[in-house]
Amino acid sequence: MENILKNLSVKLAGVPHLLSFLNDTDADDLLLLLDQARKIKKRRHQKFPPVNADYYDIRGLLTDDDRQLLGKIRAFMLSDVLPIANEYWSKAEFPFQIISGLKKLGICGLTFDKSVGGQARSYLLEGMIGEEIARTDTSICTFWGVHCGLAMTSIDLCGSDDQRQKFLPPMIALEKIGAFGLTEPDVGSAASMGLKTTCKRNGDTWTINGQKKWIGNATFADYIIIWAKDVDDHQVKGFIVDRETSGLTTEKIEHKLSLRTVQNALITLKDCKVKEERRLQKANSFKETALVLKKTRVGVAWQAVGCAKGAYENTLDYTMKREQFGRPIAGFQMTQDMLAQMLSQITAMQCMVARLSQLQDSGKLSDEQASLAKIFCTVSCRQITSMSRELMGGNGILLSNNVGRFLADAEALYSYEGTKQINSLVVGRAITGMSAFT
Ligand SMILES: Cc1cc2nc3c(=O)[nH]c(=O)nc-3n(C[C@H](O)[C@H](O)[C@H](O)COP(=O)(O)OP(=O)(O)OC[C@H]3O[C@@H](n4cnc5c(N)ncnc54)[C@H](O)[C@@H]3O)c2cc1C
Repeated sequence: MENILKNLSVKLAGVPHLLSFLNDTDADDLLLLLDQARKIKKRRHQKFPPVNADYYDIRGLLTDDDRQLLGKIRAFMLSDVLPIANEYWSKAEFPFQIISGLKKLGICGLTFDKSVGGQARSYLLEGMIGEEIARTDTSICTFWGVHCGLAMTSIDLCGSDDQRQKFLPPMIALEKIGAFGLTEPDVGSAASMGLKTTCKRNGDTWTINGQKKWIGNATFADYIIIWAKDVDDHQVKGFIVDRETSGLTTEKIEHKLSLRTVQNALITLKDCKVKEERRLQKANSFKETALVLKKTRVGVAWQAVGCAKGAYENTLDYTMKREQFGRPIAGFQMTQDMLAQMLSQITAMQCMVARLSQLQDSGKLSDEQASLAKIFCTVSCRQITSMSRELMGGNGILLSNNVGRFLADAEALYSYEGTKQINSLVVGRAITGMSAFT
């Protein structure tokens, strides 16, 4: 009873203030205030629509089994990767503890032949797996893309049957990790015109000399694919080189602004001896290297979709919760205009890469088709991540809001596996019939 009286007196204490406020305030202003209070109350109970960046149901193109696998990957990324993604990105370290979870998902070599331990599943599924991983962490997708895409595809497309049987199964099982060394300190875009790293055969042993720059996973990979120019026939050859090979050293590239979790290395090869049995038997010129890049450029395009999607989804969610001028910023016309533009670009990217993978599945994919998607998706990814950051205001540059990392990572996607200019030259050559490379 005592408590009730106490509460009542506290409540009544405000009554004189309220009466004087009502007395001093214009009736129209009072109605306006009441109307605003009603709207705020309504918003508090408003349910926001679910965030969905697959607006045209591109995933509906997959089988139920494939969609189930994507669901497992999503769950793994949210439970095991998202909580540590910003921390490892900040430290520029690789979270080796996630490899056991990746092993269980069984997502390496899915498109490879069953005879080498693959599952002969569709490129469409593989593309969407890359998208799903990048949607949470683009660095982890790059680790996966370098290993399964660049390194394993080099062996699959350019290796002999014996080499495929020997090296691919442990790589599919993630027991052995791969890296791919093409770029050099002085040779990036012009890799097709002349690598400085050389190889020379003497009996059944090759001697390799030179340097490779930016090589992802190379600080810890078991096998590094090294591309080098034969001093005798001047053609590019590929080798499966053990990281422990005498004369091979790796130095981690520090202070990156993008894909900080990926361990990129400068590799130095000084009189490295590699046996003929480690030379990729079907790689006799840069044409074979280009076959690998054709496939992996599709992967980078999907990766850009995932990166853009991750940024967009986190931003949409933020705009529905962040209030300014007494209402969620998602309710402003200019915000909705930007959100609609981002979603339309993401949808265009998804349609493009889905069709690209269908062409790949039917064996009809051309270099220039892959290059066109790599350009469009990485350019769009850059724009979408930038708009995402803008919509978050100052908070957009904080890693904790899960957009800044995508913004920074989009920069590397834009440049690696052929810059925008180089991929434009590939498309330009095809549509004009004239090569403008040099
Ligand atoms: C994070 C990261 C990871 C990477 N991982 C790997 C890896 O695992 N393995 C690997 O081998 N490489 C890797 N790379 C290297 C990457 O593929 C190269 O950075 C890329 O091909 C561009 O080469 P470059 O950096 O030497 O630039 P450059 O070739 O020096 O180009 C600089 C600028 O000049 C422009 N340019 C060049 N030639 C022309 C021309 N003819 N016309 C118009 N413009 C031109 C380019 O478009 C670019 O804007 C990685 C790079 C990064 C940043």
